[in-house]
Amino acid sequence: MDASPQEFDRVLSSMCTLPHPEARTAAERFLADNPGDPATYPDVARLEERAVDALGTMTALEDPAGYVASGGTEANIQAVRAAREFAANENPNVVAPESAHFSFNKAADLLGVELRLVPVDDDYRADVEAVSAAVDGDTALVVGVAGTTEFGRVDPIPELGRIAEEADARFHVDAAWGGFHLPFTDHDWHFGHAPVDTLTIDPHKVGRAPIPAGGFLARDDATLDRLAVETPYLESTMQATLTGTRSGAGVAGAAAALNAQWPDEYRENHERAAGNAAFLADELVDRGYDVVDPELPLVAFSLPEPEFEAARDEGWRLSRTGSGEARIVCMPHVTREMLHGFLATLDAARVGAGA
Ligand SMILES: *Cc1c(COP(=O)(O)O)cnc(C)c1O
Repeated sequence: MDASPQEFDRVLSSMCTLPHPEARTAAERFLADNPGDPATYPDVARLEERAVDALGTMTALEDPAGYVASGGTEANIQAVRAAREFAANENPNVVAPESAHFSFNKAADLLGVELRLVPVDDDYRADVEAVSAAVDGDTALVVGVAGTTEFGRVDPIPELGRIAEEADARFHVDAAWGGFHLPFTDHDWHFGHAPVDTLTIDPHKVGRAPIPAGGFLARDDATLDRLAVETPYLESTMQATLTGTRSGAGVAGAAAALNAQWPDEYRENHERAAGNAAFLADELVDRGYDVVDPELPLVAFSLPEPEFEAARDEGWRLSRTGSGEARIVCMPHVTREMLHGFLATLDAARVGAGA
């Protein structure tokens, strides 16, 4: 089969993007290293520490525990797993807003914990009262999302942290996508803003690391110790990760991406993306579409099926939210020129339909 990697010049809804050139080079160099066995592969293990330190700096965690995971899914599963391990009760539950990523469904399923998804408010954020009402003596974990996958919303993290604390539950923040935008906003979202125990922040999304590079952070070493199992046949003796052999490319790529871009290039990326999202939202409003105001650089808007199909026919890679809005994620590869082109496609479709 004659296969080629996807071109990104029409990719609008994905949270993947082109890796940073330095990250690509680093990934190629460490393709055969296994960070899952740091005693045998010490250099890639040192790069992983560097990456975790950088993620700690971004999230106000002074002495960060954590690792470069396969993605946000693994990091979220580990957060639920840690909470279950620390829970004193037989039937622990996890309380999360219904805007939480579907990886929490996988986590609940795998780990045999009850997942209580509670409604969001009119603006797609976790409803504090609904969360409070769902929490009980068996709640092991409260989840807040800092940058939801569908609408880019930031939940009220300090309030959710307070609820978790009062219930003696752990608190996890999922900033898989939002974590590389939020340092340049005035949102409260990280370890410095609330009693956060664990946090997901993915270098392989807005961080421009090559896949696979998720980020799992914990406030204390005890969390990783609790997740660790003994590893009889490796040079290393304990392993806290969910996967065994891991990608040296992902780890080295993440370290290089963070080293090259934090903080200046990430700030520039954020500002460019926010500008593009505001531009797109205005243009769509001018054309009469209902637009969800972009809090972070993600624009969701109502798009009738014929225009959606016309865009897809023109090669735009576009998806819808669970409730039907078209959704454009202003990732690093999404330029103003691309957005002009997309708007031209919509305009042509509307003229074609006699609108
Ligand atoms: C993308 C995303 C995830 C899942 O991350 P993967 O790397 O795809 O496993 C989890 N949470 C949020 C908020 C996300 O946007």
